[in-house]
Amino acid sequence: MTVRPIRYLGDPVLRRPAKAVVEVNDAIRLLIADMIESMHAAQGVGLAAPQIGVGLQVVVLGMPEEEPFALINPRVTSHSGSRMMDAEGCLSVPGYRGSLNRSVKVTVQALDEHGEPVEIVAEDDLLAEALEHEVDHLNGILYVDHVADLGKLQKLRGTGWVDEDSPDEPSTAAANAGAEGRS
Ligand code: ZN
Repeated sequence: MTVRPIRYLGDPVLRRPAKAVVEVNDAIRLLIADMIESMHAAQGVGLAAPQIGVGLQVVVLGMPEEEPFALINPRVTSHSGSRMMDAEGCLSVPGYRGSLNRSVKVTVQALDEHGEPVEIVAEDDLLAEALEHEVDHLNGILYVDHVADLGKLQKLRGTGWVDEDSPDEPSTAAANAGAEGRS
């Protein structure tokens, strides 16, 4: 497995719609392994293939304390409700986080790493937020596109995930809280 470099805002690969995977084969499983390794190295909770420069519809999700998993050709088949997320971040937009609306309940249909159909239902949690965030990536959409007032993006400093007005010695808890939202 290889940690691959993360592409940042401004890289055109992040804006191109990703192509559907035609066959879930060993090459795709190798890509998934690299993506999980890269997500963990960057301390993210999700990663979409375009974020490492690969224009395919593959995402990985790694919720805290849970086994990471991959979704291939994911589609949001239903979503409902609206909730304000106050600190969403993205590995491709390092050093910032912002407020935006996300659905409360999200249903995604996809293929797993064996090519079997799966359905994921998430409600009012980090996974629901990450599902919408990652599927957006496959459509060339970044969370900042949903932020109404970019002037209100919070700029972070130090490790990148600490509030501007935090004390000089940030607590581990604060750093971890920031890391949970990055995908
Ligand atoms: Zn992202």
